[in-house]
Amino acid sequence: MHLGNYLGAVRHWVDDQHKHDSYFMIVDLHALTIPQDPVVLRAKVRELFMLLIAAGLDPEVCTLFVQGHLHEHSELCWIMTCTVSIGELQRMVQFKDKSAKQGNDFISAGLLTYPALQAADIVLYDADRVPVGDDQRQHVEITRDIVQRFNHRYGDTFVLPEAATPPSGARVMDLLDPTRKMSKSADSPQGTVGVLDDFKDVERKFKRAVTDNDGEVRYDVANKPGVSNLLSILGGVTGARPEDLATQYSQYGPLKADAAAAVIEALRPLRARYAELSADPGELSRLMATGAAKARVVASATVARAKTALGISIE
Ligand code: AMP
Repeated sequence: MHLGNYLGAVRHWVDDQHKHDSYFMIVDLHALTIPQDPVVLRAKVRELFMLLIAAGLDPEVCTLFVQGHLHEHSELCWIMTCTVSIGELQRMVQFKDKSAKQGNDFISAGLLTYPALQAADIVLYDADRVPVGDDQRQHVEITRDIVQRFNHRYGDTFVLPEAATPPSGARVMDLLDPTRKMSKSADSPQGTVGVLDDFKDVERKFKRAVTDNDGEVRYDVANKPGVSNLLSILGGVTGARPEDLATQYSQYGPLKADAAAAVIEALRPLRARYAELSADPGELSRLMATGAAKARVVASATVARAKTALGISIE
């Protein structure tokens, strides 16, 4: 998890959980579309689970779980796979992009069929609202097509979901290349601030952030992307408007120092909670099991409904 994920998404989920009956899952089954190192995958899933709690998702308030802990996802995935056509799957932009990138390498069938799993992820929880970024809208659309087709063939069974635009969070840009989004890809580790980065590294990364040569502090994303990104990050963690913050600075150095300090302060409670959780792996496993049990109440009812509709239930 990096600062972009935290400010752009996770923080809003933390608010959302109090406004909606919210489900958050870590999609380890989707990760299997490419080969994984089991030890690393397990560690990453546990780390992310702890980070989400540390960032403020409350397992008592929302339903937080790991997808692969519920067999219902794989089970409904098959039903969804039989309700979508190969043509529809081949038209997915992400499939076209990712399979092109993998070129002659091994391309798993899962890379093609994963929208069916994603449809299962959504409908299992009777979700009516799916907060997604633009790149995932097509996936909610295909889910809607699958749901409508299933309901038409077998009777009203699944809730028809809608894509919801999440509140526009600050778009955090790479500190070394402020014209592109901060991202988890490894090609710009010095431009990406991880929420678990050592605080000394956070300070250093802000100190080296790319700005420009005209020496004027102004919020102007088009002409001053680096300075604007610093103002936007500072605004993101303090709640102030970047335009107002700009008037308080005449030099880049103090702006960088203040942005770093404010980010560190914002991350401090998250880090403390993370440290507590990582010291107690048994408690983490318990939280995962509780989340899975809570999710299963709804998921198993949906699968049962689908099987009855299809005529494949035991009764
Ligand atoms: P990803 O891990 O890239 O799929 O991102 C997970 C979530 O974090 C998505 O909701 C993204 O919109 C959000 N996100 C990722 N990178 C950034 C960024 N640099 N600035 C703001 N939000 C971001």
